[in-house]
Amino acid sequence: MEKLKILKKHFGYDNFKSGQEKIIENILDERDVMGIMPTGGGKSLCFQLPALILDGVTVVVSPLIALMKDQVDGLIENGIKATYLNSTLTNSETNKRITELLNNEYQLLYVAPERLLSNDFYNLSKKINISLVAVDEAHCISQWGHDFRPSYKNIPIFISQLKKRPIVAAFTATATDYVIKEIKKLLELKNPYELITGFDRENLFYKVIKPSDKYRYLKDYLNNKFTEGSGIIYCSTRKVVESLSNKLRKDGYKVDYYHGGMDTQSRNEIQDKFMFDEINIIVATNAFGMGIDKPDVRFVIHYNMPKNMESYYQEAGRAGRDGKKSDCLLMYSPSDIVKQKYIISQNIMNEERRKIQNENLQKLVNFCHTNNCLRKEILNYFGEDTEKDKCDNCGNCLNDSEFVDMTIESQKILSCIYRTKERFGVNVIIQVLRGSKDKKILSRNLDKVSTYGIITDYSQGGLRELIMNLIARSYIVMTTDQYPVLKLSASSRKILKGEEKIFIRKERVNIKDKKKSSVKRKTDYDYDKDLFELFTIKRKEIAEKRGVPPYVIFHNNTFEELAYFKPVTKEAFMEIKGVGEKKYDSYGKIFIEIIENYMN
Ligand code: ADP
Repeated sequence: MEKLKILKKHFGYDNFKSGQEKIIENILDERDVMGIMPTGGGKSLCFQLPALILDGVTVVVSPLIALMKDQVDGLIENGIKATYLNSTLTNSETNKRITELLNNEYQLLYVAPERLLSNDFYNLSKKINISLVAVDEAHCISQWGHDFRPSYKNIPIFISQLKKRPIVAAFTATATDYVIKEIKKLLELKNPYELITGFDRENLFYKVIKPSDKYRYLKDYLNNKFTEGSGIIYCSTRKVVESLSNKLRKDGYKVDYYHGGMDTQSRNEIQDKFMFDEINIIVATNAFGMGIDKPDVRFVIHYNMPKNMESYYQEAGRAGRDGKKSDCLLMYSPSDIVKQKYIISQNIMNEERRKIQNENLQKLVNFCHTNNCLRKEILNYFGEDTEKDKCDNCGNCLNDSEFVDMTIESQKILSCIYRTKERFGVNVIIQVLRGSKDKKILSRNLDKVSTYGIITDYSQGGLRELIMNLIARSYIVMTTDQYPVLKLSASSRKILKGEEKIFIRKERVNIKDKKKSSVKRKTDYDYDKDLFELFTIKRKEIAEKRGVPPYVIFHNNTFEELAYFKPVTKEAFMEIKGVGEKKYDSYGKIFIEIIENYMN
């Protein structure tokens, strides 16, 4: 009864959201808690409400210094005695708050984990009664989580130094078993009450898109679908963030950008502009968003692929906190995957961690290739069963385009993997199937296997798409080594024996080799922009050496086609528009080498 009254009085709500009441009851029974709820699920209330009932003060450990003021101001607005201590305060402000804490004037104290082990804080904590330590964004303690913060390791040390062990409640939106186990272990939770609420966010519409021109798609969306509220566009690098934001601004949108390379003051200013609706679109790297509780975010668009499913769900989850219909659009592009793989291969980490990161990335790739209900895929990923196979609120469920039978092509692919003894990766399998005369293929005698050259009417990109689809549906297993290899799975047999058929959406079978057809305009190619850039760098170098303008070497049109078809044999290269014998003789090998290096 008391809980409901407080809920109404201080927070203005009549009912608890799913899971909140159970968590609060357990905290009040002095039991540790591990609360796993999706972004927007209402985690804050789970520790804020008990803080009003328990004696003493609740210490909230949060990584979000920039947002502490907003959070505390919000609580004060609700008539709750709350404060924070962090590096933005002057000495006299800090001292004043410490005195007030000693006089038991606060129910909630927000601190950053860095502060926990400082002398001042240690002295203070010995003199006040801390009844509950709430750890927000608790996955930051796990090296395996995607937001690891070393200072989170201070938390258990701090707790162990207290005279009386307080109740410890940890909260996260991350639900992989491994991370949860780590949180419980590293925070030394004692027999915690564990609650995972449903991860479904019914109001969110999920869609994976593969636009041939991302910017055009984005503008079209903003002009026709975006009518109120605000939106977030995530890009993978600071460079893309800045250039996309500038381009949008020039085109008249109220937009700004945010990334980790900006100083704190600029970031805070931009964040405020977004929160206070001075701008309604923010273009950002993943540095933006943790703790952002703007209710009316109507869309989250991933302009580049995120790192993995978890980051995706957390970032996409920033849409529609107010429960209104909102869009989560993921723009898929294979070159983003290449980039992410590269980043993983370059980062310093142990092999086990690298393997986990590669696996996690692959799950996201599978998500982009599935024909199934996207909501179901997400929920299953988070270990939640779904009753229905279709949600009728995602890009796949609402896609009524027809399916095309690709069973025979799939059988050829599987058979090729088998004949080449499950020793090669995607590129080699594609080359063998297409009958490549590449040195590496010939020197390994792969032209002698019976599946050599049995698929000639699909481009490399097209075959790659089909192979990815088969991986997504577990008919092929891709290992997660540094050089991933394709292997058959237990269910491959069903396809090979004709017991199961493979159907793919028509628009994804847009893979018949179009290279001979002159009707295809260059803008139709979803060509690889990174590879294109590599070509232009090389062209500039050659042009300077030879003292000729770059277009004399190759036109951009040619580069676009090259960056789309990625030919690695002479015959394939010669089929590209703008490549004749002479051009091939002069430059063919140089550019093929660039393609090969890039693909590897
Ligand atoms: P999380 O930290 O899990 O991402 P928040 O704690 O920010 O989520 O809560 C998300 C939104 O839900 C906030 O706008 C919050 O005010 C609202 N909310 C929380 N509890 C309730 C409730 N019992 N009834 C209605 N709205 C709630």
